[in-house]
Amino acid sequence: MACGVIIVMMSSFAPVKDTFTPAEQQQISIETPGLFSRSNAFSVDFGALGSNEYSFPLPVGKAELEGGNANLRITTKKGDVVKAMFDGVVRFSRKDGKFGNVIVIRHSNGLETVYGDNAENLVKVGQSVKAGQSIAIVGGREGRVFCTFAIMVNGGRINPETLIELASHRLRKQEVIFRKSGNRIAVAVSRKEKAEEKGYTASNPNTTNRLDLRKLKEHEWAYPLPGCKVISDYGYRGRRMHTGVDLKTKPNDKIYAAFDGEVTMSCLYHGYGNYIIIRHPNGLETHYSHQSRNYVRKGQKVKAGEVIGLTGRTGRATTAHLHFEAVFRGKRFNPSQLFNHATKQLRPHTLVVKGGAVKAEK
Ligand SMILES: [Zn+2]
Repeated sequence: MACGVIIVMMSSFAPVKDTFTPAEQQQISIETPGLFSRSNAFSVDFGALGSNEYSFPLPVGKAELEGGNANLRITTKKGDVVKAMFDGVVRFSRKDGKFGNVIVIRHSNGLETVYGDNAENLVKVGQSVKAGQSIAIVGGREGRVFCTFAIMVNGGRINPETLIELASHRLRKQEVIFRKSGNRIAVAVSRKEKAEEKGYTASNPNTTNRLDLRKLKEHEWAYPLPGCKVISDYGYRGRRMHTGVDLKTKPNDKIYAAFDGEVTMSCLYHGYGNYIIIRHPNGLETHYSHQSRNYVRKGQKVKAGEVIGLTGRTGRATTAHLHFEAVFRGKRFNPSQLFNHATKQLRPHTLVVKGGAVKAEK
């Protein structure tokens, strides 16, 4: 198999509407209209969220799973306020038989979050909320103070621990695939994140933390898309992280391997479309996506300057381009620290991993 996961993903969601049907306002568990209309699966990259795009509902609370791992009971002290987990729109805010005052928020990432047993709901149906915004005063039952919290996909509850580390309250930095399978939702962590976690170092313990790009000879490197211009740089676009640089020439243009190495992935991969990862013996890893064609297979050895694919717009792309990512010793970094995209030359400096990030040294 070239790749573990082959699903054509839903590219993006329409913004959440602020009007809801009477049924949506009266039932906690209800299908999300259109969620699986274009594909039977979608993915959310939780690693790409900025720090202000996520909040644990009760930051000082203690979280335990209950209800067959469908709910979290987050215990805290009286008077605490419950926070929205992600940005979204309130779909449901009323008293429910079992969980007292309940709020359900619909998020543009396709999920819904549920906050029950509140003493008082502070938001109304149709109201837009931001991650971390106060939405309720915590309540509870039988003398205990807690919020009953759940995460839903298409009306079905998923185990919150799949997404959140209960002890630290942190969101796991991973891409998660939600797939409709009959009436159920299957949840899987994408393999790419696992591969990245392992990074380069695991299989190459002899590489050093430093790479002097000036020492590379002419035949040891190649600019991946000669003649291109940069149409989108690496870094934050508003609150969204762009994890690579977008390079554009024309459709079906040749893409070259940046260095010698081994192809560790070549397949259709979610929003990236046709995706290639090459692992290089110098400690780098380069990623290429949106190709119209991939010419290499997993396990294949390639030389710097070898054609590996053609530019395209597969996956989440509005124009034919190359989305190029650079990783050094398992850490993703700005490809402009590797190449000068104006001159198409390697940068005359040394890449160093310091404090968990890739830095350039003269
Ligand atoms: Zn891109």
